[in-house]
Amino acid sequence: MDDRQFELPLYTTRRSGRAKRVTLRIAPGTGLEVVVPERFDERRIPDLISEHHNWIDRRTRQLRRKADGAMALDRTPLPRTIHLAGCRERWSVDYRHAAGASPRLTQVGDRDLRVRVDLHAQQRTAACLDRWCRKRAALTLPPRLRQLGEQCKLRYAASEIRGQKRLWGSCAPGGRIRLNYKLIFLPPELVDYVLVHELCHTMHLDHSRKFWDLLQSHLPDALQLDRALSDAWRLLPAWVERL
Ligand SMILES: [Zn+2]
Repeated sequence: MDDRQFELPLYTTRRSGRAKRVTLRIAPGTGLEVVVPERFDERRIPDLISEHHNWIDRRTRQLRRKADGAMALDRTPLPRTIHLAGCRERWSVDYRHAAGASPRLTQVGDRDLRVRVDLHAQQRTAACLDRWCRKRAALTLPPRLRQLGEQCKLRYAASEIRGQKRLWGSCAPGGRIRLNYKLIFLPPELVDYVLVHELCHTMHLDHSRKFWDLLQSHLPDALQLDRALSDAWRLLPAWVERL
């Protein structure tokens, strides 16, 4: 899927007995609201929104220019797709608005997420998605670490998934490896780099010459990957960054 294509914005639907036709409205604080006649088929809404995306973009820009700039539609950008590059997965997210509801996420099939939320509580919704990503990381990163450990013949005591602010991974004396769940947003080669890097720390706890020699014996491009990693925080999606 192309990320640059028109992304369906978040919207709420309101049924109205008086409405004769569908109306799209965007107001500060409420975001995009679709008012539909009583018996309207909701499945037609996404197409209707796509047809009017020029108007939606224009209206969004107009509102953004206004002094307060506080607009629910794009204040906390919630994703329509979650790309977990590190485990080669792309999930689509479908939001169902329920006023006052606590976010509840359901996995539908193996690439779709359905989130029942109050769309005005976007921060909480982002936090709910983030918890799901963390679980995904806990399912995919430890097996990869085990695999690389066997390949490189490096043993570690245990692994743990954490949410560190500034570290992608760490290795404590005794061989306990901690991995940042946000790694799953990075390309697979950078994920492997961090994992092998931490595995090499089980032999050398410092960044000495011996450590780099060992690391480069497993990954000849280690220096290049290390440089790429220093710039990798920018690869995190905005909604994760802002949490
Ligand atoms: Zn290190």
